[in-house]
Amino acid sequence: MKLALIGFGQAGGKVVDEFLAYDEGINGGFIESAIAVNSATTDLKGLENIPQEDRVLIGQARVKGHGVGADNELGATVTEEDIDEIQGAVDRIPIHEIDAFLIVAGMGGGTGSGGAPVLATHLKRIYSQPVFGLGILPAMDEGGIYTLNAARSFQTFVREVDNLLVFDNDVWRSAGESVADGYSQINREIVERFGLLFAAGEVGQGDQIAESVVDSSEIINTLQDGVSTIGYASETVNTSSDGILASFRDDTGFDKGTATNRITSLVRKATLGQLTLPCDVGSADRGLVVATGPPEKLSRKGVERGRQWLEDETGSMEIRGGDYPMPHRDEVGAIVLLSGITDVPRIDNLQQVAIEAQDRTETLQANADDELASLVDTGGELDALF
Ligand code: GDP
Repeated sequence: MKLALIGFGQAGGKVVDEFLAYDEGINGGFIESAIAVNSATTDLKGLENIPQEDRVLIGQARVKGHGVGADNELGATVTEEDIDEIQGAVDRIPIHEIDAFLIVAGMGGGTGSGGAPVLATHLKRIYSQPVFGLGILPAMDEGGIYTLNAARSFQTFVREVDNLLVFDNDVWRSAGESVADGYSQINREIVERFGLLFAAGEVGQGDQIAESVVDSSEIINTLQDGVSTIGYASETVNTSSDGILASFRDDTGFDKGTATNRITSLVRKATLGQLTLPCDVGSADRGLVVATGPPEKLSRKGVERGRQWLEDETGSMEIRGGDYPMPHRDEVGAIVLLSGITDVPRIDNLQQVAIEAQDRTETLQANADDELASLVDTGGELDALF
């Protein structure tokens, strides 16, 4: 499917930058346009692939290009104030060419956390294309303010977008490695998973004909609303036996059987392995299974079996399936998109944090009101003395 990507804040910009490199590397063609929005000049300068004219600096009047820090309320304010600057860049997107917008942002910081939901509301008001979000959750050890920002931003972002795809940094760093050290590795992981999914919906007329190609409407229908997570598993395959031997094996059915079993087990591995946001798979409302790899190693039967297995696992009757042929690869993979997930421990935890913060604010407010009232009372008593 064709996307207009908008990277909001530092994490958002870096991930969109990486998406561009990935799209080019696999010849995916799923990015129509890419924009970066930030309140910090240095973050915009650090990008490599997003064209200069599509890097938008906001909040200059307030923070003079130095960023909003971890103040996501200020991030939201400067986005509202400078929405016309962002719209200027969006105006250059050939809107009729795109299937959807995708706003990418880290939920724990200031600019992306505060600004991404504001931009989502704005785009939804103007365009008929779906507006999806890709929200990156902070690692637990980043500190309270990041968790609190994420808790608040998540609630608003998920309400404003058509679907929020989530990646949790916490689950993805390797043991003993700080998240910052691992960002480049993590970012490659993000773009591979989400990029393969979006590229799968972009197989053109002239491309290798898949047995049953996934099209963009299947991805959009699976996304519909709510929160999504992605699983991915792959296996290196030997492509050197292509040609006479491979076709002989096809005739005997031997290689087809292997391909079927391989894909079915990759679908299981993808679902039961590391998801971008861990959840109870049974709580998914909808799903999509995509097999990727060299066309001769793909199997419609394998996808169908994987799809049926996922139906049983989720209890959902809305599981779609298809192929994404990639002729020159030596890897066969399965992407599993689970959407409308509800049983997600990390989100329950974030909601709890938001509720506690709200309670604390209300208690502080009530105490302040009491103090004010008693001061007024004391004032009254003092008045009576004179
Ligand atoms: P902003 O610029 O104010 O929007 O804030 P940042 O994007 O710098 O940080 C927000 C959160 O995003 C951080 O708390 C991290 O969890 C995360 N983050 C920052 N940079 C990266 C990155 O390159 N990759 C990933 N996956 N996460 C990042």
